[in-house]
Amino acid sequence: MSGAQQTRLASQALLTIDLDALIANWRAIAARAAPAQCAAVVKADAYGIGLEPAAQALSRAGCVSFFVAHVAEAVRLRAALGGAPAQIYCLNGLSDDAAEIQTLAGAQAFPVIGSAHEWAAWLKHAPGHEAALHVDTGMNRLGMSAQEAKAIADTPEAACVTLVLSHFASSEERDNPMNAAQIAAFESVRQMFSNARASLANSSGVFLPTAPHYDLVRAGYALYGGNPTPVAPNPMQNVVRVQAPIIQVRNVEAGAMVGYNSTWRAPSPRRLATIGIGYADGLLRSASGTQDKPAAQVYLGDAPCPVVGRISMDLSVIDVTDASLEAAAPGAMVELLGSRISVDDLASRANTIGYEILTSLSRRYFRQYVGG
Ligand SMILES: *Cc1c(COP(=O)(O)O)cnc(C)c1O
Repeated sequence: MSGAQQTRLASQALLTIDLDALIANWRAIAARAAPAQCAAVVKADAYGIGLEPAAQALSRAGCVSFFVAHVAEAVRLRAALGGAPAQIYCLNGLSDDAAEIQTLAGAQAFPVIGSAHEWAAWLKHAPGHEAALHVDTGMNRLGMSAQEAKAIADTPEAACVTLVLSHFASSEERDNPMNAAQIAAFESVRQMFSNARASLANSSGVFLPTAPHYDLVRAGYALYGGNPTPVAPNPMQNVVRVQAPIIQVRNVEAGAMVGYNSTWRAPSPRRLATIGIGYADGLLRSASGTQDKPAAQVYLGDAPCPVVGRISMDLSVIDVTDASLEAAAPGAMVELLGSRISVDDLASRANTIGYEILTSLSRRYFRQYVGG
């Protein structure tokens, strides 16, 4: 890419994406879901890690089905994949807009039709073209009712439906009774379209004991290293590493306040380091530390160091009292995400989910792709 910065400046935070780990995760899910196929969900810039490098690596590894959310993402994905075989599905459905529908068809992407209204628009603007059908099984977000699907199944145009899908609301909660209810509801709908492939499971759905894999599973979060089985150890490999440099180090007395609004007060004499990363980089402000709440934690070498006080836009402060004196020096890199600090761990400290941590990774990092 012309103009792309080739080397990291010393004060820049670093985002390293391990494409070998991404591929290993895809292979692991594909093996678990076999004989079902494993599609890659690469919406939202592949959950923040970069659509083009992620999709190209997965395509080289043998992935042939991809899900995006937006038509613009489908266009980008088709361009990134060049002539490689790829079925691209657009999850957010179909607008009424003729130009947008032409753009979608031009990218040889398939809409995931979520209502009778969208189905009518598809028949009108792209008659005879293949599409997927999204049937709601209880989430009430996208998707048509079973009755609406039945009405379509009874028409000759139903032959254009080559994939029927639905989406779990709580598949990461293994024992949630809604999973079985959704599987039962999906089962009756997919039988209406006996010539279409069927797809229900997202990452966590793949790991449900009932294995609702059908023909195609749609893995997103787990590909990027998130834990699809939250109460058990993470079976996936870590993909994302975030590191930031120490800018300044200072000693403070007991009682000293740190950061905006003085939300943290040193309980004893402490040694603090200011690091060059903040909420504008995706280190969510909700991971700030107060006296009562554990904040984000970073590693300086092998020493865990808590974030103290408010995370600001470009800066955060960490307590390096327990790290070695030599290690805690300007220019040293600390790790905020990586093999020792998972996306799920940081998310729980920020009162959110790992999906939001990943999709909040900003464009400001120096990005480095390894492997693949
Ligand atoms: C985002 C999404 C997925 C992927 O879910 P993960 O939990 O990230 O694996 C699958 N299906 C649909 C409909 C989605 O919107």
